[in-house]
Amino acid sequence: MRGVVDTGDMEVDTGDMEYAHGDDYEGLVSNRGESSRRVEASAGKPVLSNQGALAVSAASAVPVIPADSTTSAASAPDLAPAPADVQDDATPIQSRDGEVAAGIPVPHGCVVLAATPIGNTGDASLRLIALLQQADIVAAEDTRRLYDLARRLGVHVNGRVVANHDHNEREKADALLDEVEGGATVLLVSDAGMPTINDPGLAIVRRAIERGLPVTCAPGPSAVLDALALAGLPTDRFCYEGFVPRKTSDRARRLRSLRNERRTIVFYETPHRIAETMDSLLEAFGPDRRMALCRELTKDYEQVRRGTIGQIRQGVIDDPPRGEIVLVLAGASAEDVNEASPEVLTAEQLARLAQERAQSEGVRIKDAIAEVVKEHPLPDGSFPNRKEVYQASLSLRDGA
Ligand code: SAM
Repeated sequence: MRGVVDTGDMEVDTGDMEYAHGDDYEGLVSNRGESSRRVEASAGKPVLSNQGALAVSAASAVPVIPADSTTSAASAPDLAPAPADVQDDATPIQSRDGEVAAGIPVPHGCVVLAATPIGNTGDASLRLIALLQQADIVAAEDTRRLYDLARRLGVHVNGRVVANHDHNEREKADALLDEVEGGATVLLVSDAGMPTINDPGLAIVRRAIERGLPVTCAPGPSAVLDALALAGLPTDRFCYEGFVPRKTSDRARRLRSLRNERRTIVFYETPHRIAETMDSLLEAFGPDRRMALCRELTKDYEQVRRGTIGQIRQGVIDDPPRGEIVLVLAGASAEDVNEASPEVLTAEQLARLAQERAQSEGVRIKDAIAEVVKEHPLPDGSFPNRKEVYQASLSLRDGA
């Protein structure tokens, strides 16, 4: 039986707007709060329950899909960070392993990358379930998390399970691909979301391509697209920047290099670095660029804060966000691009500007050069070489 989620009967209580910064703060925060999702059970229709396990009701053969089953006290807002895979202890209801995904074909002699839920077990696809049950080998970023997911889904992982994480994935790739060559189905999953997106998986994909072996994907949840879709910013062109660098100077440089990016930009972030990142965003893009801070996506306490950089930064100070975070930043407007970098100036041009400033403001030439250089970052976000500008300034002075 193939279950199809029909949301027609679903009642979703989206909770109250949680945030308000004044009249000009559009959209603000949408918070699902303690969403109560209920779907009337009817023959052949899926049921959303809070039981935390995907199972098949023996009586009605209705698949039971957990709603926000990852939510626990630990994922309540501002109590504690909630990893994507916070578990509940519910046991599957009358699970009949395999039935829900029966008839879903699983390819043989192939690597299959499969996306796993980023917080809501109900987002697991039938293909993921079939693969978990039928793959000959499951290569998992963390094997305990894999078994936890299987438990929540009420499925049994029948194949051999191997750990495949950032530190060993290159070494493991060839042995796994030897199995593929022998006809095995090798399933690759990460802790949450899409493998290879800030998660292991790329090494085996690359090696499979080199060896001419088939690789396919059972797509599904990924925080990038979820946040992009919810942010309300343009989606026709976007880029994904992953996590910004931790070191302040590297982060500032990376962000400066994005000043003229016209596409919507998606970043991943963590609660303990969000304040610093908001400071760096303010410095690089100014207070008025629009953005969204999306947290705890697909979970009960999902929240999207929309506003300008200045507003979101203030919100982060007043009400520090917990849990998992994605930041979505509007791309540069044509106006921003003109303002941000009119042109790349030569050392001599910068030296002239510095001399004019030193004279008009009565500051030392070295200080004037430092200021002028900072105001004219290069397209990659780095600054022009101050020594070169200083030399150019000496040559101008000596030649004058
Ligand atoms: N492979 C994953 C994917 O496809 O989204 C990303 C893994 S990366 C190691 C983890 C980061 O993804 C988190 O720090 C957060 O920025 C983002 N993330 C994952 N789940 C999320 C969620 N439920 N809500 C918001 N952000 C999430």
